Amino acid sequence: MILTAVLTSANLVTLGVCSCHDNAMVEVEPVKVAVVGAAGRMGQETVRALHRAEGIDLQLAIDRSSGGTHVRELVGSRGPDLVIHDKLGAALDSTPVDVLVDFTTASAAMQHAESALKRGVAPVIGTTGIGVQDLRMLKALTEEHSTPAMYVPNFAIGAVLMMRFAELAARWMPDVEIIELHHENKEDAPSGTAALTAERIASVRGGGVPKKPRSVERTPGVRGGKMHDVNIHSIRLRGLVAHQEVVFGGQGETLTIRHDSFDRGSFMEGVKLCVRRVKSLQGLVIGLDSLVFD
Ligand code: NAD
Repeated sequence: MILTAVLTSANLVTLGVCSCHDNAMVEVEPVKVAVVGAAGRMGQETVRALHRAEGIDLQLAIDRSSGGTHVRELVGSRGPDLVIHDKLGAALDSTPVDVLVDFTTASAAMQHAESALKRGVAPVIGTTGIGVQDLRMLKALTEEHSTPAMYVPNFAIGAVLMMRFAELAARWMPDVEIIELHHENKEDAPSGTAALTAERIASVRGGGVPKKPRSVERTPGVRGGKMHDVNIHSIRLRGLVAHQEVVFGGQGETLTIRHDSFDRGSFMEGVKLCVRRVKSLQGLVIGLDSLVFD
């Protein structure tokens, strides 16, 4: 067992205990999992990925818009032999699972998490836009029901590394702005990744105060929005998936750290990692760091 410091978000700090496996051959039961939002863009990708994943047993697909539809009608004939449920609570009561993966909307995800935790099911929430208050509530629910949960605004391993590199750079280069670029249907802005990156930059800047640019805003909002004293610019355009640049400025130099998710497959290694590991954590764990850097 090792103790890992779990990243902070929204001023929540959690300590998670991860169990590590040695090389001994141990028979492990597959993790039984449900996906809510299964008919959506991320949900369909997740259903395909979890269906093929070793050590994972996809048992339930739930989506309020597609109750009664066979999953194969959405994801193709190689998908799982499951019919989509439209009511989460009833589905979890009919088929017990260990983990619930959520790709829906921020308001629905909170209700789903509560419903899961009450039943001892660990939520892995990929839905973005969950606010500070909700995260506090979620943390309290994990404690009340002695069941862990994860909130992961970005499952791409490259994005986790981007945030870590940005944190390193911010110690030396406090002048920084974030440009995040997403497809036109993304509901929230700024992205959860941009918000988390800004928060983590702020946490390591220490005494390094960013220089205030002199420019006057002739068009309101043209300089982006500020989170944790970091300007964030949100671009929404057809053709994009999920991309972010963190641009640092110094005396006579700039440093740009860029991450691109070109398709939704980029999130699946992270989703599988969380599904396999969430039950070994404690409390609310935010982000993938504690699993990637343990
Ligand atoms: P989408 O609109 O394509 O799919 C959402 C699905 O959720 C829809 O099928 C909808 O019917 C279903 N839904 C909504 N409310 C529901 C409810 N109460 N019960 C059951 N089903 C419900 O959206 P998407 O592009 O798949 O994105 C979903 C979420 O995932 C967004 O918040 C997005 O920002 C987030 N996202 C996260 C990551 C990550 O790495 N964490 C990556 C991409 C997208």
